[in-house]
Amino acid sequence: MSEKNSMSRRHFVAGASGLVLASAATRGRAAEETSKLAVDGGEKAVKAVPPSQPRWGEVEQKQLQEMLKHSSLFYWKGPQTEILKQRFQEFCPVKYAHNCSSGTAAIHIAVAAAGIGLGDEVITSPITDIGTVIGIIYQQAVPVFADLGEGTYNLDVADVERRITPKTKAIIAVHLTGNPCDLDALKALADRHNLILIEDCAQAWGAKYRGRPIGTVGHIACFSLQNSKHITCGDGGMVGSSDERFGPLLQKYGDKGGNRSKWGGFDGFATNYRMSEPQAAVAAAQLTRLEEIVQKRAKLGNLLTEKIADLPGIIPHDVRPEDRAVYWFYMFRIRPEAFKCGRSEFVKALQAEGATVQGGYIKYPLYQEPVFQNHGFFAGRWPVKEMGLTDMDFTKHKCPEAEEILVTNIRVPIYEHMTEEYVLGVAEAIRKVARHYAV
Ligand SMILES: *Cc1c(COP(=O)(O)O)cnc(C)c1O
Repeated sequence: MSEKNSMSRRHFVAGASGLVLASAATRGRAAEETSKLAVDGGEKAVKAVPPSQPRWGEVEQKQLQEMLKHSSLFYWKGPQTEILKQRFQEFCPVKYAHNCSSGTAAIHIAVAAAGIGLGDEVITSPITDIGTVIGIIYQQAVPVFADLGEGTYNLDVADVERRITPKTKAIIAVHLTGNPCDLDALKALADRHNLILIEDCAQAWGAKYRGRPIGTVGHIACFSLQNSKHITCGDGGMVGSSDERFGPLLQKYGDKGGNRSKWGGFDGFATNYRMSEPQAAVAAAQLTRLEEIVQKRAKLGNLLTEKIADLPGIIPHDVRPEDRAVYWFYMFRIRPEAFKCGRSEFVKALQAEGATVQGGYIKYPLYQEPVFQNHGFFAGRWPVKEMGLTDMDFTKHKCPEAEEILVTNIRVPIYEHMTEEYVLGVAEAIRKVARHYAV
């Protein structure tokens, strides 16, 4: 928003609150009153967060009632599982789809189906849910963290390329917050080095990369249905692929290593990552709500960027205009040198304005977590390292931009029940606080 627009908005607010804008003196005072920080006793920029709405209801109830008519609650050939897979494939057109118990499970299944094993390296993001790398480590492979874009918070393709070695087998691209990674560049890089590209779409339900549904550019796509995600069944996941090398293996690696359609005993080895019919019923019902949810979130997040993009010292969420980011949350950064205050003071001032923001996200980039620093994944030990199959030392790992992101970022929750008016209030709060603390 330009300064001119923000002035007219302030005048509008002042006018609506009954102040007469007759003289220059009154006008000056009005502007001063509305720009005085709430933390210093001024008026709040944000009125109230609109109340949240129920995330499930009649649609889920109907689907669950249907489910209870069946004699089995097991997933294999289960009617709810079939409906879920079909609806999933409608929005993410992949040839093979498999439902499983979590997003972590989906990624482990993908990694196993991709044939990743002992000592192989998989390049991924250090700012993500730990579920992104659990499957890599369980397959006795080695996660290698690459650095991120300043405002996209997604893999920096040039840094990914620098970290490719003869051991690299795959890239897991995390679409953090639902902002699509640069998939064409990652796919080209993967193809050049004969790597498998796995998309972690856990936070990106309904996102689009240059018009293409998220999950359809890489070789394998993984989604989470955990409670905090755009759509949910409490806990659950989906994994999909159109690649004939991997697609037919997804069911097997999600179900103890046995192929149920062509039973030939256990020619593979995997754990039990099955999803049962009650979960599939809820997930299938939730999918009917997806488009509405993500359209709303995309609109609200983009609106916030539009209103704060011109602010000095602020790095807005960097979304390519041709993509659809679905804002699991919105994240901006402050440039420390541009403000007289630190992040915690900035956040406190925003909270006083009525904006429900938070500084930080995960505590550390994953490689700084104690279990990585100790290389203690399996009863305190890490077999691949002890066997000399990797010289990975997480105590020496560095992703400078990712480390900087986590100490300068501010998260703004975006939910489908929020209104444009609320988001405009948050934007005004950010403008007010940024102006106040500008050096
Ligand atoms: C939530 C999440 C996961 C893990 O999903 P679960 O269902 O919690 O196992 C993986 N990656 C990302 C980016 C996530 O946000």
